[in-house]
Amino acid sequence: MKTLKYSRQRESIKTCLMARHDHPTADALYTSIREEFPNISLGTVYRNLNLLVELGEIQKLTCGDGADHFDADTSPHYHFVCRNCGHVYDLPMDPMDSINQLAQKHAEGQVESHTIYFYGTCNDCLGNN
Ligand code: ZN
Ligand code: MN
Repeated sequence: MKTLKYSRQRESIKTCLMARHDHPTADALYTSIREEFPNISLGTVYRNLNLLVELGEIQKLTCGDGADHFDADTSPHYHFVCRNCGHVYDLPMDPMDSINQLAQKHAEGQVESHTIYFYGTCNDCLGNN
């Protein structure tokens, strides 16, 4: 049985995520990483993904569909979520920094960031592609 060092597993999980731009769930990432490391467990994938989030190396997206999605792009950007197929797309629009100042006027504390998800139906589901 192939035994992997913890850091090597983490590195391969990150590499696998960086190669994808579809914001996979832990389950989806597990499926593709098993092709390379058949003995890796889903729990190991979960643990390492959450550790990478804590380290700030990747980000977790909670889009409201019940499963967390993961993104190797940690720069500030927005997402469009298709309510029909569940795909998560990057939106190439500028971050709205002014919304933090607006919220600050009403917040009982220091506002530091915000997260926005846009919901609708993607072009694939609309039959536009
Ligand atoms: Zn769709
Ligand atoms: Mn993204």
